[in-house]
Amino acid sequence: MHPITGLHHVSVIAGDPQRTLDFYVLGLGMRLVKRTVNQDAPDTYHFFFADGAGTPGTELTFFPWPNMPRGRDGHGLTHEVALAVPPGSLDWWAGRLASLGVAPGAREVRFGETALPFADPSGLRVTLVETADPRPFVPWDASPVPADRQIRGLHAVRLDARDLAATARFLDAALGHTRVATEGDVRRYAVGGAARSGALVDVRETPGAARGMWGVGSIHHVAFAVADDAAEREAQALVRAAGGHPTEVIDRFWFRSVYFREPGGALFEIATDIPGFAVDEDPAHLGERLILPPFLEPHRAQIERALPPVVTPHPEPAAAHA
Ligand code: ZN
Repeated sequence: MHPITGLHHVSVIAGDPQRTLDFYVLGLGMRLVKRTVNQDAPDTYHFFFADGAGTPGTELTFFPWPNMPRGRDGHGLTHEVALAVPPGSLDWWAGRLASLGVAPGAREVRFGETALPFADPSGLRVTLVETADPRPFVPWDASPVPADRQIRGLHAVRLDARDLAATARFLDAALGHTRVATEGDVRRYAVGGAARSGALVDVRETPGAARGMWGVGSIHHVAFAVADDAAEREAQALVRAAGGHPTEVIDRFWFRSVYFREPGGALFEIATDIPGFAVDEDPAHLGERLILPPFLEPHRAQIERALPPVVTPHPEPAAAHA
């Protein structure tokens, strides 16, 4: 069986850091499980939002770069992330988004599932999809969203490719995703194996489009999950055999990663499910303070001075749903 088990996290370029924190924690009710810095640009925050336990496959992460221009659509970019919500919850979510000042798009049926697209405060395309697919999920008790409506994790990503055949071959050979369905101009690829979040990648061929460009609201990279270090090395070898150029394994402290581009240019990562976010914080207090990886800890004072101040949001927990 292929070592990749689904999506691990999706990382996004955000605008304002405080608005991002407030929208995802107070608005969408996700838990801030790590407040840290971009390890390659430590004057920038890196926020991780997830379920109550930081389960791999539920994480959406943000680098706030408020001075960057807006991203530009086009091929070679992942342009949308879909998040799973419980069946029958989209009416409630539409009202929730309206109360946050977000006007969702028209409801759609995608591959038989009901979907509600909207744009977050940075312009990121997010779609909530009703699904009963089984997946590991731990509700967040302090969430302002009732447990039976909380976001269950990543569902799918969508990317534009100039040459669909090349991207599809790579998804199969390097990443273990096979085509499972076609709807209009979107082809859906899925990874098999254990039930978990983020088994789906949708690809649209856009041969005439310009190259997309990163900016505020863009997906920076998509990380696929492997169980452990042995699986990481196996996946790295498969990427290489499929013509990719993976980096060496980089220790991100909460997981270990390799990075590479798929043939169309979108940046991908493969990250381990281990050791997880509780490795350097009490699981009851994740995200409450700025965590630095060990190699940056000696520079804490300087890094804290360079970061814009933010207030960690503390929501009113939702009343138990009757
Ligand atoms: Zn990543």
